[in-house]
Amino acid sequence: MNNYSIGIDLGGTKILAGIIDTENGTVIETAKKRTKKLEADFIVQRIIETVEKAICKAQVPMSQISSIGIGAAGQVDRVNGILISAPNLNCFDVELKKILEEHFNIPTFVGNDVEVATLGEMKFGSGVGYNNFVCIFVGTGIGSGIICDGKHLKGATGTAGEIGHIIVDSGGRLCGCGGHGCLEAYASRSAIEKKILGSIKKGHKSIITETLKESGVIRSKDLADALDSGDEIVLNAITEASEYLSSGLASVINFYNPELIILGGGLMEAIDFFYDLTVKKTYAKALAVPALKTKIMKTQLKDFSGIVGAAMLHQG
Ligand SMILES: [Zn+2]
Repeated sequence: MNNYSIGIDLGGTKILAGIIDTENGTVIETAKKRTKKLEADFIVQRIIETVEKAICKAQVPMSQISSIGIGAAGQVDRVNGILISAPNLNCFDVELKKILEEHFNIPTFVGNDVEVATLGEMKFGSGVGYNNFVCIFVGTGIGSGIICDGKHLKGATGTAGEIGHIIVDSGGRLCGCGGHGCLEAYASRSAIEKKILGSIKKGHKSIITETLKESGVIRSKDLADALDSGDEIVLNAITEASEYLSSGLASVINFYNPELIILGGGLMEAIDFFYDLTVKKTYAKALAVPALKTKIMKTQLKDFSGIVGAAMLHQG
């Protein structure tokens, strides 16, 4: 009775590991640890600790765990299970498959974080029943996974779905990729934060100034609260981001003609205004015929899309 699988979401700031029932996608138990500013060796050690903690909490016998899947925020070699490059984690050429298989003695599969989150939504989330859809995650960056005829589309070099780097303003803002005018430089969480901080620096008043004094960071919930209080600086930044994001989504509808677009990530979850405005603008901008047939909805598994999808990587 090998009904369970371990799913790991290795992100830029945290590791989330979960014990998943592979029959129905139920998350039995999870464990979480931070990854910030750690060296590669420590990150591997911390992955092992997080998994062990999740197994311990779930009280599932190892004999019933049939596979481990890991979705990492970076470029991966799926065949050999290597994390090739994850600049945010300071990890390069880490043999995740080999290391985890040696430690746990369970077959291990490695994928990209956005890919596994899309897989999770396809198997047990908002994508159930759809064969052609796009999952778009708005976070520190903007990533997407494409499902084409029921399969994850990888592209010629395995980089299909880099929606964060479609150009929405030719010659515009500098992006982390080195290019100019990419969607990510306008509509990601980092772009919104930059815009707000820029306005504050120019002397505009915002509630966020107080938030920063208290906690030093701006969380999605802080932005939602600021909007509720009628903060104009935050309203302008979110509205601008929505303008660019909807242009990106309308382009996806026109180009790919999907049945469904699934939107995820902290900003989408926390800020209804951002989600609602983006959806409205997207339908207004896309070509009428494909727009009529494209549904837009939020992720169903929310924070668990990644671990559920990673746990299903063994299915290929
Ligand atoms: Zn870019």
